[in-house]
Amino acid sequence: MLYDFRSFVNPGHYAFGKGTFNHLGELIDRRKTPTNDWTVFMIDHFFQDKENILNRIPKSDKDLVIFIDSTEEPKTTLVNKYRDQILAHQDTLPAVMVGMGGGTAMDYAKSTGLMVTNPGDSKDYQGLDLIKNEGIYTICIPTITGTGAEVSMTAVLSGPEKKLGIKCDYTIPNEVIFDPELLATVPNEDRFFTGMDNFIHNVESMNGSWINSMGLAFAEKSNDITVEVFMNKYRDQLEADEKMMVASIMGGNSTTYGQVGVCHALSYGLAVVLGTHHGVGNCIVFNQLEKYYPEGYKTFKEMQAAQGVEIPANITAGCTEEQFDQMVEISWALEHMWDNAFGHDWKNKISKEEIKDLFKRM
Ligand code: NAD
Ligand code: ZN
Repeated sequence: MLYDFRSFVNPGHYAFGKGTFNHLGELIDRRKTPTNDWTVFMIDHFFQDKENILNRIPKSDKDLVIFIDSTEEPKTTLVNKYRDQILAHQDTLPAVMVGMGGGTAMDYAKSTGLMVTNPGDSKDYQGLDLIKNEGIYTICIPTITGTGAEVSMTAVLSGPEKKLGIKCDYTIPNEVIFDPELLATVPNEDRFFTGMDNFIHNVESMNGSWINSMGLAFAEKSNDITVEVFMNKYRDQLEADEKMMVASIMGGNSTTYGQVGVCHALSYGLAVVLGTHHGVGNCIVFNQLEKYYPEGYKTFKEMQAAQGVEIPANITAGCTEEQFDQMVEISWALEHMWDNAFGHDWKNKISKEEIKDLFKRM
């Protein structure tokens, strides 16, 4: 199952560049039909009181706006709740789902759009190719960039048992609007943490056993740009944000044609047990991975110094042995990531004790 042949899918439409957000209304209208004529907007809660952006959302009376609290990562329970809210809103299905925000809002839109047309609990769809029916036409609009969620075939959800994506051909967004002006308000620290998610995706896929020429080319170019962005090589923030959006598209593709590795396996453990957010969690983990990714680690530290961002330390200091064991088990179960990092005989290359020791240093 892990190593099956696959023909990968990308988003169908891209609108790229400053000002493209102004065309959201046109893009939505193209997808409306006489019966399915309304839209669901899932928007990061940061914009809840930002009139200058909200006034530009092409919302009509029939539409539904849901503000996404991105303090916590997407949960299967909330996906189910939003799905029920959408089904109760009108007698017909929406024509379009818009996901506007970071990985959190976009993954909510991607997964909820699928759950509207697939019965049951979203936790039962965490995994590969479990979705049966195509979802609602989804438009993603990143407002912070680096996860690659806007171009990826997965929507990562935390369920009662696991943090795992709903991954299939239908999870891909149908359309993406990349407008760098929407990133202007991102705090420096968040910009760095989400940008480093992209850097780490690339390091892990480039150094993994699953990589092919396609994934490698995306990863190399993506990290060239990411390093330029975080070593302050661009004229101004708008140019850097636009470049970073390109890096994120390419980084998303580097993992599509490759796979993540040690850092993501460990950061999922932190996320499930301590609720650590993905971007910062990856930085906390990567800070301990010099042995596994020496070159990437060196560049990471240079970018951190250039940005003057602190990476939280001692976050596991108060953890019980039971919590450490739980983190280890969650990480260990992410077989595909270990397999990519160390090859099919990965169990001979890393032990649960070594993983536990890494968690204790974070
Ligand atoms: P995020 O979406 O959680 O947002 C981070 C912070 O930035 C939030 O506080 C948010 O309010 C704020 N923010 C967003 N846009 C802003 C703006 N324009 N101005 C000011 N603040 C803004 O962060 P993220 O790092 O983009 O996403 C993390 C999530 O993405 C995790 O749930 C992770 O699992 C998921 N992820 C998904 C994929 C995928 O392929 N689907 C890949 C990697 C990560
Ligand atoms: Zn990631």
